Amino acid sequence: MEPLVSYYNNGNGDSVCDIISWFEVVSQNAGHVQTQLLCQILKQNYGVEYLKKWLGNYNILEMEPCALESLFSSVVPLASHADFDPYIQRIADGETAPLLTQQPITHLSLSSGTTEGRQKFVPFTRHSAQTTLQIFTLAAAYRSRVYPTREGGRILEFIYSSNRFKTKGGLTVGTATTHYYASEEFKIKQHKTKSFTCSPEEVISGGDYKQSTYCHLLLGLFFSDQVEFITSAFVYSMVQAFSSFEELWREICNDIRDGTLGSRIKSPKMRKAVLEIISPNSNLASKLEAACQELEEVDWFGLIPKLWPKAKYVYSIMTGSMQPYLKKLRHYANGLPLVSADYGSTESWIGVDVDPSLPPEDVTFAVVPTFSYFEFIPLHRHEKGFSSGGDDFLEDKPIPLSQVKVGQEYEVVLTTFTGLYRCRLGDVVEVAGFHKGTPKLNFVCRRKLILTVNIDKNTEKDLQLVVERGSEILNKAKGELVDFTSYADVSNQPGHYVIYWEIKGKVEDKVLGACCTEMDKCFADHGYVVSRKTNSIGPLELCVLERGTFKKILDSFIANGAALSQFKTPRCTNNHVLLKILNTCTTKKFRSTAYT
Ligand code: AMP
Repeated sequence: MEPLVSYYNNGNGDSVCDIISWFEVVSQNAGHVQTQLLCQILKQNYGVEYLKKWLGNYNILEMEPCALESLFSSVVPLASHADFDPYIQRIADGETAPLLTQQPITHLSLSSGTTEGRQKFVPFTRHSAQTTLQIFTLAAAYRSRVYPTREGGRILEFIYSSNRFKTKGGLTVGTATTHYYASEEFKIKQHKTKSFTCSPEEVISGGDYKQSTYCHLLLGLFFSDQVEFITSAFVYSMVQAFSSFEELWREICNDIRDGTLGSRIKSPKMRKAVLEIISPNSNLASKLEAACQELEEVDWFGLIPKLWPKAKYVYSIMTGSMQPYLKKLRHYANGLPLVSADYGSTESWIGVDVDPSLPPEDVTFAVVPTFSYFEFIPLHRHEKGFSSGGDDFLEDKPIPLSQVKVGQEYEVVLTTFTGLYRCRLGDVVEVAGFHKGTPKLNFVCRRKLILTVNIDKNTEKDLQLVVERGSEILNKAKGELVDFTSYADVSNQPGHYVIYWEIKGKVEDKVLGACCTEMDKCFADHGYVVSRKTNSIGPLELCVLERGTFKKILDSFIANGAALSQFKTPRCTNNHVLLKILNTCTTKKFRSTAYT
């Protein structure tokens, strides 16, 4: 089985059929592949300081893979990021002894920190870039079966590198995507998938997302008759780009007409690179201007197919916390297929979308068993009325991939080639079925409870459903929800939930009041309902924000080192900086009248 695990690491298998048949075989044998892979990770990293604590007394080099797998899960404890932090810090400071891996670590990735509020360092190795190339090639192979694209065509990619910096010990730090865009693998991907991004490196890594977005749009339109599909890492950044386009289109059309770049593009490197590509094209500019004038009349409905008539689909992560942006994307896409991109994290890639024809709401991810060693902690929801002192789920013992059951929810645990051992990822997934022998996962939510005042427990998913229900009333009154977040305010007794909305369109106060009451009623968690009835949680508060507030929040994250490619609006916050922005930008407040 070993050759299967390393098959792609060796760079074999170039054609679409090759990679799909390779994946079918590893999926068929997923359990066995996982056992072999764990053995490979552990033997490769034999003697590193972290593992010595647990495995130091065993001669693991001589052990059979199955015996090693059961030893591993019985003696190495489950861990969280905090357990690896001190080791990663020592590596960042320049310690060269093997702490987590035998191979020296030269790069560290920054996870977005937008879901947990704190950016984490995660080791990044050549293996990380290779698995990124593999999952992109594999996903492209599945997509091309359903939506074939023209070889040699272009991709309009809204992608952004963060700035990279060096640690005290000389390691390069940046987001995982930043390392990937700078790697050989990114160039190989373009050749392997025979489609080329519209923007040059200087635009992707320009460092200022506003200037990069402008150039992505400009070049995307310059090459509009060659663009085969449109993509971004998370759908948020694509929606963000198109909404900027609503403001920028005249300027962009002028630049296309004259083959120039307006003064808003300040980066000399970016200017030079873009000006080398474009040339004056007044025909195209006039055509685009006419199209934009028509689009403006219909509130930009169908922007994508109108401006990129050859695009076959839109491709991005649209699940989980990205789902609220689907409505806007569908508005721009007017029926063009939306293909939901794969499931992964800074720590490791996890699963690939093997059914690209499914709508984003139904998409599942087939676990790629050669990426990392995956374990699954069975999670059970509490019985009604059961209070657990703040814990969200009851947990069973972690099980290997080969033992997961359809319909059960799990937290994902990772053992990676980059030195994380049994590290909880914090994501809740549900097994929706199997692809050959590998589970297909439905992403449910981040595990951490986001709203809780006392015995109530609400996750990101619960909040999302509630906001969807509330915004149905808003939509009926011709209002549009731009974005939202929330806060559990316990500064006064009784504590209560605050939901912040940025909306577009003029909506009467009585409609907003009704939205607020509806959301309060829609939290179905038993602890919440009971507490509301007894007034140990106060009425829900809806704060309406001035336009552009979420842009300010994005800018504040970016100013602190986050990258647009990875950005996820925090769905709940107690971060002081953010709360300050939210509270200063609140223009109206409503309190629910439910439960009175
Ligand atoms: P980061 O830590 O910034 O790398 O972000 C990784 C996190 O993004 C994951 O742990 C998930 O919570 C979320 N994520 C990644 N891919 C998907 C996906 N396809 N669907 C939903 N959420 C995702």
